[in-house]
Amino acid sequence: MKTPTELKSILSRYKTPEEIEKILDIIEDIHVARKGKNMVILGHNYMPPEIYYGISDYTGDSLALSRIAAKTNADIILFNGVYFMAETAKILNPGKKVLISDKTAGCSLAESVNAQILRDFRQENPGIPIVSYINTSAEVKAESDVICTSGNAAIIIDRIDSDTVFFIPDVYLARNAQKQTRKKIMFWNGKCMVHELFSETDISLARKTFPNVQVVAHPECKPEVTAVSDYTGSTSQIEKYIEQYKPGKVLLLTECSMGDNIRGLHPEVEFVSSCQICPYMHRITLEGILKSIKEEIYEVTIDEKIIEKAARALNKMFELGS
Ligand code: SF4
Repeated sequence: MKTPTELKSILSRYKTPEEIEKILDIIEDIHVARKGKNMVILGHNYMPPEIYYGISDYTGDSLALSRIAAKTNADIILFNGVYFMAETAKILNPGKKVLISDKTAGCSLAESVNAQILRDFRQENPGIPIVSYINTSAEVKAESDVICTSGNAAIIIDRIDSDTVFFIPDVYLARNAQKQTRKKIMFWNGKCMVHELFSETDISLARKTFPNVQVVAHPECKPEVTAVSDYTGSTSQIEKYIEQYKPGKVLLLTECSMGDNIRGLHPEVEFVSSCQICPYMHRITLEGILKSIKEEIYEVTIDEKIIEKAARALNKMFELGS
């Protein structure tokens, strides 16, 4: 968490002084509202800096945050990210109250597939394991054999005991993983509405305009895009890459807030912009968070049987990925 002065300096890049004062006032109200509650506040990498730096006890990708939550002794988890992430936190922390300030914060990937599609697939293709990306609903996780993240997809596919797998829902992540494994990957046709917008033209234009720029892509981007990027990695891997190599100039092919947050950590790195906004992530606002904390509302609830089956698929990932 940053001090108000540090946060002011980060926000001053793109907010007016009046907007910053309003933001700092709400943040103050949030700190007051959470006092006396045994609550942990989690902020995904795609949250805007006022949430990421202003009020989050922990920041990171969805899985890292859920695992952190499992280790705290907090009774309440407020998840600032999209709904499938809050569900994952609930699956891994069934005894805790999990809140998300806007239950309509969805995800184009998670919404592209449902549990019935997986049941039908199993019936028609007995014996082929289903590997589901973490960007799926609790019901879909419950029908899966194992879950993976963008950082460990190829590892999980390699270690599962089958020469063929059905990978859902992200077609681009599947095709990027296919470059790293000899296993046959059958895939679904889901796409992240943010990452699918990046093109090879964006990259060649940036390389012409900014010589020596390092192009860093997320594996939800098209394989044609990752093929001409300098580095491809999950949000956590991108953070580590920039921390380690501190490139002079970076073109980050991912969600805009991720760039804003990394920029806050590395003022010495020049970020040349070509980002896309996730409209779902931006449904999470400071005002909504304040209301959720004050009234302890917008709780994530999942049927116990679904939690049990989904936890099995998540634990399989921890077993294979370790
Ligand atoms: S950025 Fe893409 S994958 Fe992430 S929540 Fe938004 S739509 Fe889903």
